[in-house]
Amino acid sequence: MARLLLVSNRLPVTVKAEKDTVSVVRSAGGLATGLSRPHERSGGMWIGWPGDVSRLTDAQRAQVEKQLADLRCVPLYLSASEVSRFYEGYSNRVLWPLCHYMLDRVPRQDRDWDAYRKANERFADLAAKHYQPGDTIWVHDYQLMLVPGMLRQRLPHARIGYFHHIPFPSSEIFSTLPRRGELLKGLLGADLIGFHAVSYVRHFSGTLLRHLGLDTDIDRVLFQGREVRVGAFPMGIDATAFETLAREPAVLDEVKTLQERARGERLLVGIDRLDYTKGIPRRLLAVQRVLERQPSLRGRLRFIQVAVPSRTQVQAYAEYRETVDELVGRINGLYGTVHSTPVHYLYRSLNEKQLVSLYRGADVMLVTPVRDGMNLVAKEFCAARPDDDGVLILSEFAGAAAEMRDALLVNPYDVEGMADAIEQALEMPGPERQERMRCLRAGVKARDVHWWVARFLDRLQGLPSVAEKPPLPDGMLAVDKLKGPGRKVLFLDYDGTLVGFAPTPELAAPDEELMTLLRELSARPDLSVHIVSGRPRETLDAWFGELPVGLHAEHGLWSRMRRGQAWQALPGVSFEWKPKVKPVLDAFAARVTGSFVEEKTASLAWHYRKVDAEFGALQARELRLLLYEQFSEEPMHILPGDRVVEVRPKGVNKGRVVPEVLKDEAPDVRVVAMGDDVTDEDLFAAVPPGGITVHAGNKHTRAAYRVEGPPEVRRFLKALLGK
Ligand code: UDP
Repeated sequence: MARLLLVSNRLPVTVKAEKDTVSVVRSAGGLATGLSRPHERSGGMWIGWPGDVSRLTDAQRAQVEKQLADLRCVPLYLSASEVSRFYEGYSNRVLWPLCHYMLDRVPRQDRDWDAYRKANERFADLAAKHYQPGDTIWVHDYQLMLVPGMLRQRLPHARIGYFHHIPFPSSEIFSTLPRRGELLKGLLGADLIGFHAVSYVRHFSGTLLRHLGLDTDIDRVLFQGREVRVGAFPMGIDATAFETLAREPAVLDEVKTLQERARGERLLVGIDRLDYTKGIPRRLLAVQRVLERQPSLRGRLRFIQVAVPSRTQVQAYAEYRETVDELVGRINGLYGTVHSTPVHYLYRSLNEKQLVSLYRGADVMLVTPVRDGMNLVAKEFCAARPDDDGVLILSEFAGAAAEMRDALLVNPYDVEGMADAIEQALEMPGPERQERMRCLRAGVKARDVHWWVARFLDRLQGLPSVAEKPPLPDGMLAVDKLKGPGRKVLFLDYDGTLVGFAPTPELAAPDEELMTLLRELSARPDLSVHIVSGRPRETLDAWFGELPVGLHAEHGLWSRMRRGQAWQALPGVSFEWKPKVKPVLDAFAARVTGSFVEEKTASLAWHYRKVDAEFGALQARELRLLLYEQFSEEPMHILPGDRVVEVRPKGVNKGRVVPEVLKDEAPDVRVVAMGDDVTDEDLFAAVPPGGITVHAGNKHTRAAYRVEGPPEVRRFLKALLGK
């Protein structure tokens, strides 16, 4: 078993100081429990912050270090300023509300970004220091989104996983982050990026497409020549532990006491960290509505809400606390009597026994966050019900809702709807309660935390290692091989290779810098330059007609070998399919606003570069399918390009240009081909052995080298000139 290097903001421990002594205690949280087995078995390390130890004496610190080492934990101490700026500032004031769709809570200025980046660097440095070849690194959560990328720079061959424990919001929300690009690239340093739910994976992929132009193919996306996998891995709990506890006599005694004290009152329970994502105010209002609507339930309903103090240093949490306090007071003022109080509000944390007793004793469990990555309370409640009883009311905006379809699912913004659900739960007949709970429990037990850990690690460790599939070397390394005397022929694609993408094909005209570069290259006696493009003859003529370069239009259908020569078409090509295909493309252009059809002599292209990236990609997929189905017999090829779907005749491809040009060259001429999209792969395939092929971008390629994009291509060409 590979050694596991875990990296999370917090270590799974609590440091307890008493006078001179100090003890380090393992936390009982789900993550800590789930990971403890593989952590110990693999002889791994866990890197993270042990909490505030600033008040400890030097001697106590030494004790802490010793005890942490025994637990195979490596502490990273955060300074007071890091706690306030990296942890509370950027992580909890910016990323937390943003990922939970609460844009209005995000501060206007992200002053703490630098602190976030620097703290991430510290985590990456420490992890890299402890890394041994063969280790698996698993980074956890939104506090450390840059760490995978930073680790990839330090350890190009490491196997790195990342899990995002909170929601990943729709790309429209994530797009508002000024640092979105850096954060996305940070995550893409991982080999596997995990989320709780399929919808978060979809949102993440959409965001990659929108901001980095990276198209996810089912579960993989190419970034900097590496394959990055994404997937949904819903986290579970230690179900057995909760069930065992729920059967303990001490817990059953406590449940009995709870029910006796309730004197026939029905018990509703809510247990949350006091966090504005948990939907406590609307939940309280729903309880109030039930009491308003059903006078017969007054005095017969008790709602126990436990709110665990959380992030008390963050202003928004203090304000939220006041809102909840006020609402509780108002409802109790309205519906309390000298004999009964409808809302029992506890602002504190509970021990395990108290927690499980509440789960076990509840008639109805209210889990109604307005947004929640997963929500483990919902699962713990079910695990703690070996009696197969109790009703779970669950927010459809909790990640858990994707799995727990047998709960009563509610919209947490709809107070009336939640009140309906509470009434339905209170009236639900026994057999229905049991049937629902049985199904819920089966899911919670089958997909527990051990299942989650194993599934993520199996997937991560099953991926081909970077060593087996090394990323392509940087194209600049090839320049040295081309130095020195001897003739060279350059085959250069145009769009996406020599120039970047523009909103319309006309706008991508060559700039002055490029024209100068091409002029200088073609003036060199030892160099011959050929532009091999998908564009029509007229355009290439207008742009490059005056240059002493070879021009090849429409993917090699037309060639003009030398300046002043006439264009010649490839013989024997059929175009009969064109009038049949054109109406299909026209229909898509009419339907998808911003897209348009380009017609060339031999080919047709549907462009969608001005269309919303996600919608455009979806429509392009549909168009390709339709074309494959309708025209499978026609002598034509359907080519997905960069924001274009192109249809061109069979037998025409950029590759045919290469032997044509090389006919007139000496056999020892050096060949260089550079291109960015699928049509350039034909070019690469035609390059004779010993030639240099360079892919500009992040796609699957047969090229031997890679550069990032047009600026790097130009740098490569300038280097050929010795600049
Ligand atoms: N919990 C706790 N102390 C308490 C009440 C609850 O430690 O007094 C635990 C609870 O058992 C659950 C966790 O806090 O495991 C809350 O996890 P959840 O996913 O529901 O929400 P989060 O707090 O992570 O947003």
